[in-house]
Parts: sequence; C-alpha cells; structure tokens
Amino acid sequence: MTQTPRRQFLARTAALAAMPLLSGIGNAQNAGRKLGVALCGLGNLATKQIAPALLKTRFCRLAGIVTGTPAKAVDWQKKYGIADKSVYNYQTMHQMASNPDIDIVYVVTPNALHMEHTLAAAAAGKHVYCEKPLEISVERCQRMIDGVKKAGKMLGVGYRLQFEPNHMECVRLAREKVLGDLKIIDANFGFAIDDPTQWRLKRALAGGGSLMDVGIYCLQTARMLTGEEPVWVNASEVKTDAVKFKEVDETVLWQARFPSGVVSNSVSTYSANGLAGFRAATTRGWFSLDPAYFYNGNRGRRSDGPEINIPVSDQFATELDDFADCIINKKPTKVPGEMGLADVKVLMAIYESIKKGRPVSLV
Ligand code: NDP
Repeated sequence: MTQTPRRQFLARTAALAAMPLLSGIGNAQNAGRKLGVALCGLGNLATKQIAPALLKTRFCRLAGIVTGTPAKAVDWQKKYGIADKSVYNYQTMHQMASNPDIDIVYVVTPNALHMEHTLAAAAAGKHVYCEKPLEISVERCQRMIDGVKKAGKMLGVGYRLQFEPNHMECVRLAREKVLGDLKIIDANFGFAIDDPTQWRLKRALAGGGSLMDVGIYCLQTARMLTGEEPVWVNASEVKTDAVKFKEVDETVLWQARFPSGVVSNSVSTYSANGLAGFRAATTRGWFSLDPAYFYNGNRGRRSDGPEINIPVSDQFATELDDFADCIINKKPTKVPGEMGLADVKVLMAIYESIKKGRPVSLV
C-alpha cells in the first residue's frame, strides 16, 4: 500500500469504528430491493436534476416526496408513480416512521430549513442526505450531526463534485504530487442572480449570499486538493447593488492559508457569469479545470501536456448510489455531516473577517 491509499484506508477504518450502530442497514439489500429515497422540497434542483438521476441509480429509487405545494404532489405522483401513503408535507413528515418504503430522506429545501427537515427525518428513523451548505451556522450543523447520530442513522452532504472524475483527477494530481508540491490555488465561482424575490437573497433562509451558495465550491476545492483545513482566512466584500443585495453578500474575495503552506485565493459572486474554475500552481507546473463545478462538461489542462477530460456519468446518481452503498454495506460516507460542518466553520470565519476588516485565525 502506498502512503496515500494507506492513509485513506486508516482514515476510513477509523471513521467506521467511530460510527454509531446503524439500525436497519442491510435490510434493503437482504430484501433484494433498492433503498427508497424521499425528496424533501420539490424545487429546481430536485425537479431538474435529482428526480431524473434517481431513474438512473442502481441502489436506490424515488419512493416518496415531502412538499408544501399540493399541486406539485399531484404532478409528481403522476410522473413517478408515487403511492399516496408516501406523499408528505413538512408538518406530516414525522409519519414516515411507519413507512418502510422510505429509507433515505434527501433534503433539498432552502439552507436555513435543512436542520428542521433533517431532524424530522432522523426522528422518523430515516437516513439523511442533505444539500449544501449543510446549514447556516456551525451550531445548527452540529445539532444535525448529533440528531442523526442519536437516531443511529447516517448523514451525508450533497457534495456531488466529490464523485466527479475530473475533480477527482485533480485531487490525485495534487495528493500524488504528480507536478510537484501544491503551492497556490486560484478558485472562483459565480453567476448573475436574477429574480430579486428569491430565498437566496433573504438572509433568514439563505444564511448568506454568493459565499454560502457558490463560494463553498471554491472552499471545497482547496480542502479537497490539500486534504487540509485552513488555519487562516482574510476576506472582503464588494457590493454594487445595495438594494438587491441588502440582506446578503454579492461578491466576496478571500484568501486562505493551509498548514502545509498552500495558499488559496477565491472570488464568489452573484453579479457576473463566466466565473467557474480553478487553477493549481505547483513547484513543477500547474493543472486547472475550466469550467469546474458544473453538472457536466468539466474539463481542464495540465502543464505537462495532457488534457483533463474524463467522460462523466450523472453526478447525482453517482453520489446517491454511493450513499446507498455505504448504508447497505455499513461503510462511512466520503461526504459526512462533519465535512459540511467544517465548511460552514470556514465560511463563518470568512464572514467574521469581512465584518472585522482583518484576518481571522482558525486555530
Ligand atoms: P428552489 O427554490 O428551486 O427549491 C427549494 C424548494 O424548497 C421549494 O421549491 C419548496 O418546495 C421548498 N421550500 C420549503 N419551504 C420553502 C420556503 N420557505 N421558501 C422557498 N422554498 C421552500 O431551490 P434549489 O432547488 O435551487 O435549492 C435547494 C437546495 O439545494 C439549497 O440548499 C441549495 O443550496 C442546494 N443546491 C445544490 C446544488 C448542487 O449542485 N448540489 C445546486 C442547486 C441548489 P415545495 O414547493 O415542494 O415545498
């Protein structure tokens, strides 16, 4: 075993030992059925990406829905053949406890509702897969982790890029030092946000703006490539539309330092398109993905010649199958709640740095 896989093996083994006893795991496999997934919050992502992906999964299937919009329930039942007994709203989702068709609840609601819906699902005895960011504060993330652990269930975070082969190839280049030691990471992501009335622009539901929504991908990039946690951040915010971005950040610029000496530099924005990629500078060259972070079409280059352009399958299908496989085979997930908490901790330090106008230490 080389040093890196050995470390990964040890980390996975340690994580497995630390896992709570997962009640009910393996039952679905023993019964020869796929794990049933209930989607909680039938918005854009659930409708356009996750539900279609569930038609392609090997180990799970769309078995239920939780929605606050009765008309959507009618449409979804017709389209996906969902039984009446597997349709819930946010007030009745605790009744899932008596529904053996549902094993996993996938929470796809606005950020600040993740805790409420995760805890309700866990209390009903279900595993939870939750969209990013895990929640809007460290304390709320911790309560989610504790609640799911107490229920003896598994909590995963929808970090789909952890299952995207081009991003994983970059992680390999960095960790195996294929182009020398990693030194500087430049990672940026943004889009021009439209509808000024949407929840993403409301602090109470979003927790923050571009940083929480898309900056988190840049942070994940730096954490994935280094395999380290930042020890220091320094940030500032730029606002060009004080009305639209009254409650949340529009554009955030930040730097982070990592224990090995790697430095990352990032911009997240809600005011411009065309910014979605990263470039990693190493002692003997560089590698990059541009675009990065997309549902498909991610590709890049490396300074020693070859293109990075690995054919991809559906990221949502892959991440859900991986989560189901972890439940069935009692393995720790690669994207646990603790990873979501670690990101939120750094995002909060970035906001603190903006507020205080000075660098913030994370150690
Ligand atoms: P949408 O606004 O499109 O959908 C959110 C859904 O949540 C609504 O349609 C609604 O569904 C439900 N909901 C419940 N309460 C509220 C409320 N008070 N206000 C608004 N909606 C409510 O959001 P997205 O689908 O784009 O995002 C959902 C989550 O997924 C977010 O956490 C986001 O960060 C994450 N996301 C992740 C992506 C990824 O690539 N991994 C990409 C996009 C988003 P209903 O009518 O059924 O109740």
